[in-house]
Amino acid sequence: MVEQQVSEKDGFYADRSYLSHDYKLLKEKPGISPEILFISMSYEGSYIRALRILEQFGCPLRRKDRKNSDPLVIFGGWSVSRNPLPLFELADAIGIGDSEHLVADITEAYKQNRGSKETFFDELVQKEGLIIPSRYKVATENGYLTQWEAHNAPTEIFPGKKSNQFPHSWYLSSETDYNDIGYYDGKTFFSMEIVDACASKCAFCASGFREKGRDIQDPTEVAVLAEWAATHGADLAKLFFPANSSQTATKQIMKELMARGLSPRVGSAKAEKIDREYLELVGQSGQEKIAFAPETGDYELRRHLGKPGMTDDVLRRVIEESIRAGIPNLDFYLIMNLPGETKDSFRKTIDLIGEFHHLAQSKGLKGRVRISAPNFFPKAWTPFQYAASGGLEEYALKIAQLNKELAGIVAVSSMSESADLLSQNIMSRGGIEAGELLLEVHRKLIEREQATGQYTPDTIEDWRAALSSLGLDENSYFDRKDAEQQLPWHHVHLNSKIGLDQLQKVWQVFQDKRALLIIE
Ligand code: SF4
Repeated sequence: MVEQQVSEKDGFYADRSYLSHDYKLLKEKPGISPEILFISMSYEGSYIRALRILEQFGCPLRRKDRKNSDPLVIFGGWSVSRNPLPLFELADAIGIGDSEHLVADITEAYKQNRGSKETFFDELVQKEGLIIPSRYKVATENGYLTQWEAHNAPTEIFPGKKSNQFPHSWYLSSETDYNDIGYYDGKTFFSMEIVDACASKCAFCASGFREKGRDIQDPTEVAVLAEWAATHGADLAKLFFPANSSQTATKQIMKELMARGLSPRVGSAKAEKIDREYLELVGQSGQEKIAFAPETGDYELRRHLGKPGMTDDVLRRVIEESIRAGIPNLDFYLIMNLPGETKDSFRKTIDLIGEFHHLAQSKGLKGRVRISAPNFFPKAWTPFQYAASGGLEEYALKIAQLNKELAGIVAVSSMSESADLLSQNIMSRGGIEAGELLLEVHRKLIEREQATGQYTPDTIEDWRAALSSLGLDENSYFDRKDAEQQLPWHHVHLNSKIGLDQLQKVWQVFQDKRALLIIE
């Protein structure tokens, strides 16, 4: 998306770069030396890879070390918009929210002030959604914000203006996710985000708390883009939307795509909102699997998370209808160690999934049942931002139990052993010290590369060693937080219409309800 937005601006040319399988820089045009590096990241596990990109560009990692001849480094993306604090020591500028207007503001300001960083910053700092970290004096300690002083910059930062334009963000890649079942070998996806925020507001999910700008319901508009992609080699048109999007609109879009000979693919939808016709369309499209997200087998907890309509009976109905519609594989999304779990919540999860497997078998499911079981980590600007993160030992025990009890009948996809268990949690809750931590992990990776001749990705041990080198306490990223104190992202808002008092109220109500339940 950013590449196209930049290239559309008069006098600018954008070139896309990636890391290859061996963590070397892949550039479309190898000879180019950029003046601005835009780094967009949708999840916290990418941050360490962003440092690798900077290093491969020969760009100093800390903003303070960059000279005028070095490129400007601008970070943005979904996870960065929720909590940009870990990137404060690294970024020259940070974009909060959708990139449409941000890129326009940055390119315009750069054009007018190419020779001077400070006048470029003077102009940018006035624009909504843009942070110039050098204009802030910030300190964080043990997961709280202890200092926030703005100098020639706004104290409160809100996301950039929303755009309801169709996002020109597509990727054509044969190496996408979802290939555990082997159906996607050699296929190229074309992805379109047709709706960008969810009205359901489940207490753990940031999708419900972002600002909504886009809800594309016109089947022709989607189909024209998908047809364009097909002429460029796309096999599948993937529609991204939050789970409570309009089913009527989604059905019409799917019908239009299929009428034009295209192959739509949809993500998880709210089980209680979809009907037989929706599932039949998914089946007719040839979609290889469908996903439902009960999050837990404990209905009372599910209800309090914000999913009261998704009863076990509703889930049974959609399982049966999916199989009848010819969808061969079923996925269930479950989160381990959710706040408010009672002693037997996990037991209920295992039992429910076992029951779903038997139901699916008895109805003639052709493929497999899979569960996706990440650990819980709190996301900024959700009511659960104050909750304790899922403990890593508890997580390992639960995954071992799932694997044991569901062995041979259900495929378990987990974060076991993944560095993301630590890095995602730290980057989502951390303050500016998390930037130092990133630099330390990167330093260790480079040391290892120099010793072995090969860059290898970060491990949990690398993160623990870096925490220890900097004297940082791992627990401070996992502890429950005091709602009376300021969290690191306190002044960087995800949504101009949702304030802290609303989140705190939901958090309080959730705790009261769950406490009652646990006592009972
Ligand atoms: S319904 Fe799904 S996408 Fe919407 S807020 Fe809840 S978990 Fe998030």
